[in-house]
Order: sequence, then structure tokens, then C-alpha cells
Amino acid sequence: MNKPLILVVEDDTSVRNLITTTLKAHSYRYLTAPNGQTAILEASSHNPDIVLLDLGLPDIDGVAVIEKIRSWSNMPIIVISARSEDTDKIDALDAGADDYLTKPFSVEELLARLRVTQRRLAMMQKESSPEASVFTNGELRIDYAAGCAYLNDEELHLTPIEYKLLCLLSKNVGKVLTHTFITQNIWGNSWDNDIASLRVFMATLRKKIEREPNSPQYIQTHIGVGYRMLKV
Ligand code: CA
Repeated sequence: MNKPLILVVEDDTSVRNLITTTLKAHSYRYLTAPNGQTAILEASSHNPDIVLLDLGLPDIDGVAVIEKIRSWSNMPIIVISARSEDTDKIDALDAGADDYLTKPFSVEELLARLRVTQRRLAMMQKESSPEASVFTNGELRIDYAAGCAYLNDEELHLTPIEYKLLCLLSKNVGKVLTHTFITQNIWGNSWDNDIASLRVFMATLRKKIEREPNSPQYIQTHIGVGYRMLKV
């Protein structure tokens, strides 16, 4: 496999240098863009494997960059935001970003996010169709056509909502899904009450699929943001 090509979009030179030095040391190829316009141009002309996108750019809003890229490509986008930009982070995920990093971040965190995204990419390429009929992840198996889920070959007894939740997470494995995205998919319209209900359903689902619900292996919580199924 070729070394993955990463597009680094960041106007802050010191952060950009930290990222590119890290990428170089870990055998990634990279391109850089100091603003949103250049980012869109580079993304369309070089088709990178992953985009690392700072949300606070000097020319156009990072969320607008995501919307633009999403109009023609599903390339994974990891957004980088400052802690004060929490709502921007959620907007970015709802616009189609896959994951996020919060400044200041460590080199280890950056590399871990890249690995998660690469695993997601590999899985997307393996399952040619997102509607592939059987999904497997560790001991978890979902037969979408039959509408059944299994853990270690034992059928799970899930309520319809738990099953819908599990399918939604599995079809977006590796991607952080926001509360709004999930509640809209499960219940249609979204209102505040749904987030509380979502927590309850997530807790009961975890009891059924996680060996240790307090240190979950499959479903990760992103406090204030949402949930993600990890590829184990
Ligand atoms: Ca910035």
C-alpha cells in the first residue's frame, strides 16, 4: 500500500510544522494549505487519503470547507478545533467531518486519530457497499438482511430502538456521530428530550454488547458531542 497522503489545513505555522514533522517521522506523505480556498483546491486536485482541517481559518469557515469537499467526495476529514469552538466541532461533524482533535493535542493523539481513520478507510474499501449484508467487528456480528445481531455467535435480544442504534453506529464505524445526527436518524425529528432518551438506550445497548459496560470496547462516548463505534 502506498504511504497515505494527508492534506494539512492550518494557518498557524507552528501547529502546521508540528503536524508535518510528525507525519514525516511516521512515513506519511503530506500537502499543506494555509487557508480554506487553497484547501479546497488541493483536496480536489490531489485527492488526499485524509484531510486534517483546522476550523478557524483566515478566509472561509472550516465548516464551509467541509460542505464544499462533501459535495464531491467522502474523503475522511478530521477537524482540529480550539476548546472554545465546541459548537463549531459539532457543526463540523454534522456537516460530514469524521472525527476531531482538540487543541492543544499531543503527537500521540494525532497519530491515534490517523490510525482510527485509516482502519475506517480500509473497512470502507473492503465492504464495497455500505449496505453489505453482514457486518462483523470483533465478536459482534450483525446480519442486516435478517435483522439480527450476535455476540460471540449468540443472538442478542435487542429492542427495536437498540437494534436501530447498533445498525446506525455500525454503518458509520470509526466515525463520531453527533447526538443530533443519531436522534434524527432514530426518532426523526429531534428535540432536547431525545438526548436523555438516547443516553438510556445507549446504556441498555452497552449492557448487552459490552463485556464491561464501564470500559466499553465497541461504543465510545464523546462527552457533549456524541458516540462512535470503534473497529476492534
Ligand atoms: Ca487557525
